Amino acid sequence: MATLESNYDVVIVGAGAAGCYAALHLPPTLRVLLLSKQEATLCNSALAQGGIAGVWNSPNDNTELHANDTRIAGAFTNNPKTLHILVTEAARDIEQLVAYGVEFDKDETGDYDRTLEGGHCRRRIFHHRDSTGAEILRGLLAQVQLLPNVTLSEHTVVSRAMKTETGFSCELMQGVECSVVNCHFLILATGGIGRVYEHTTNSAIATGDGIRLAYELGARIKNLSLIQFHPTAFNNKHSRECFLISEAVRGEGAYLRNCHMERFMHRYDDRLELAPRDVVSHAIIRESQRTGSKDFWLDITHKDPEEVRNRFPNIYTKLLKQGYDLTKEPVPIYPCQHYLMGGIHVNANAQTRIDRLYACGECAHTGVHGSNRLASNSLLEALVFSRRAAEEIAKIAEDLSPKFIEGQFPPITATEPIPHGIRTELRKLLQENYFVIPNTEHIHEAYERVTELIQLIACEDWLMNLDYIEAKSQATCAYLILEEQL
Ligand SMILES: Cc1cc2nc3c(=O)[nH]c(=O)nc-3n(C[C@H](O)[C@H](O)[C@H](O)COP(=O)(O)OP(=O)(O)OC[C@H]3O[C@@H](n4cnc5c(N)ncnc54)[C@H](O)[C@@H]3O)c2cc1C
Repeated sequence: MATLESNYDVVIVGAGAAGCYAALHLPPTLRVLLLSKQEATLCNSALAQGGIAGVWNSPNDNTELHANDTRIAGAFTNNPKTLHILVTEAARDIEQLVAYGVEFDKDETGDYDRTLEGGHCRRRIFHHRDSTGAEILRGLLAQVQLLPNVTLSEHTVVSRAMKTETGFSCELMQGVECSVVNCHFLILATGGIGRVYEHTTNSAIATGDGIRLAYELGARIKNLSLIQFHPTAFNNKHSRECFLISEAVRGEGAYLRNCHMERFMHRYDDRLELAPRDVVSHAIIRESQRTGSKDFWLDITHKDPEEVRNRFPNIYTKLLKQGYDLTKEPVPIYPCQHYLMGGIHVNANAQTRIDRLYACGECAHTGVHGSNRLASNSLLEALVFSRRAAEEIAKIAEDLSPKFIEGQFPPITATEPIPHGIRTELRKLLQENYFVIPNTEHIHEAYERVTELIQLIACEDWLMNLDYIEAKSQATCAYLILEEQL
């Protein structure tokens, strides 16, 4: 754990793709504190498999085609301004990744092996086998370590944040130690909210802390109920984190089968297994209602085993560890929470409505995705808008006063831990009432119960620990998601 000072020009909460990329684009004259709740490699960025979309030196493609595919996926509700920025600035950020040493796969001619994913009309996904996010994060973290003005502090949790006359004060927890740091600018890059659900592809850090901090600071939270559910997560009934089985497996010809081992997609969509994510997730839930069973299978055993192993080495090995040989037997799958389209509402420079408060990456709502994200656009969004936040801060920071004021957080002296079971109940409420097909009959009841749980959390002080901090964040996100449905 790094030794921290009391004052920094910029505090970045989150060291995934968005947080690291912001740090790399801030001027070297600014002192920057970059925080991750656990080790920096435990985040959604490290889990991204497919790749990063973008038009860069692609003769048969152009940014208008990329924008159009994004609009179709987003049901034409995308923000035109931020979408234009996303597709036109993609090239410079992908090029920058390569300059940082990030390795994307190449074909036999030496050109980048751009791949195709559902919803894209051209091959425009830059990838590193089937573990692109880990490779991007490796490259970014290596660059961050070279910057003398950036302090990376892992296992450091921001529990509370407060606006001051000179910027913000943040309360930090490192193990059981609490401290306060002050900053002129605060960037929230805390990732998704998957852990508000029982079953998610997201990493353990994804409890929506940044969204809760922004909400408490008075920022606008928008479209939090726009949640993407992935149809083919490995159905490991014993674990909360569901390993994602990429869409590309269906792209290579895998079938979906119900509890009777029958193919069923023909009942729901002419595109069969190749229908978009949300359509396939809906079809699985409808089929489950029809058969009364939640058992579903992904079957690629009719394809050449050698080709399947070569194309999906990561997926193949992970499934083998779970006792399934993808090439020899069908694999159990079920939809689960995957991605958040909504979040902390920001403008094209990642600014919130609170002076000097910025948000980028999955916790932010730039509006680029509209109501449904196109595959491989989220790493791109994280890079483009975190860089723009840094560029904006660089302009404003020229006139900074060197003064810092420390805010006083109300002391928490409680020793009693938050009651057991609140987080489990929150996850169950969301899973049962706001999953692929919202439970309109009971959603109001769920909202009222979440409101009671929020009051229970707020009614008195509880021991300040990670469980308490995350429960507050999960409850706030659950409340905001359900509130939008009333
Ligand atoms: C399985 C999976 C596959 C995916 N595949 C793709 C893909 O192929 N292409 C694509 O474009 N997108 C993909 N995505 C989505 C994409 O990975 C994420 O949207 C993106 O990486 C989010 O980056 P981020 O920097 O916003 O958040 P993250 O990478 O999740 O980083 C969040 C950071 O915030 C920190 N943090 C959180 N709370 C606190 C706190 N209270 N105090 C301090 N630090 C905190 C965490 O420790 C972490 O460092 C995938 C996601 C998953 C889960």
